[in-house]
Amino acid sequence: MFLVGLTGGIASGKSTVVALLQELGCAVIDADVIARQVVQPYFQAYRRIVHSFGPEILLESGEINREALGNIIFSQPEKRQLLNSITHPEIQKKMLKEILKYFVLGYRYVILDIPLLFESKMLTRFMKHTVVVYCDPQVQLSRLMQRNGLTQTEAEARIFAQMPLAQKVNLADHVIDNSGDAEATKKQVLKLHTELENSLEYLVV
Ligand code: ATP
Repeated sequence: MFLVGLTGGIASGKSTVVALLQELGCAVIDADVIARQVVQPYFQAYRRIVHSFGPEILLESGEINREALGNIIFSQPEKRQLLNSITHPEIQKKMLKEILKYFVLGYRYVILDIPLLFESKMLTRFMKHTVVVYCDPQVQLSRLMQRNGLTQTEAEARIFAQMPLAQKVNLADHVIDNSGDAEATKKQVLKLHTELENSLEYLVV
């Protein structure tokens, strides 16, 4: 049994590649979905966030205003650290539960879709394979502008706030180049799937 870490840049095509892998029957866990779940009112992290950041970060519905919280941590690194110290252990616990669930169901490997995979040495250590979904910078910019309705300056600011995609490519075991059309990406995903399946055979031998 092993873990595969999948990452990329903003709008580089992670969701597109994940959907193809799921069609092929792969088990995939989305770290962003878990990060949103653990700050819901019925989770322990919720109470601690409200206690630390005050009720002013709540929406009228009682849910956490993620945008307001995002603005606070963007400008105050010590607040970001505080938020991470509350949410990260909860995210890790929930991820571990989901990983175990898939292994109990008989999956031999689980793919973890983690946008900030390479930003955490600890996380990277647990991965048998790492995959980066790459996209040519110009294509990435235009897809991001189109998908999010952003100006070029806004889109560039979001791209530049991340670890450069080229640096992630250098750290990866496998690269899917999603600069082309859907068919070109699908071919590469099929090849990756075969490689992952074959690496199971080595485990059995
Ligand atoms: P984020 O992490 O920012 O949510 P992502 O890495 O998951 O993004 P996607 O949402 O898969 O990226 O793709 C970004 C945008 O580009 C989407 O609008 C998607 O429909 C489009 N897109 C992805 N791959 C292709 C492709 N090969 N050809 C054309 N459009 C594409």
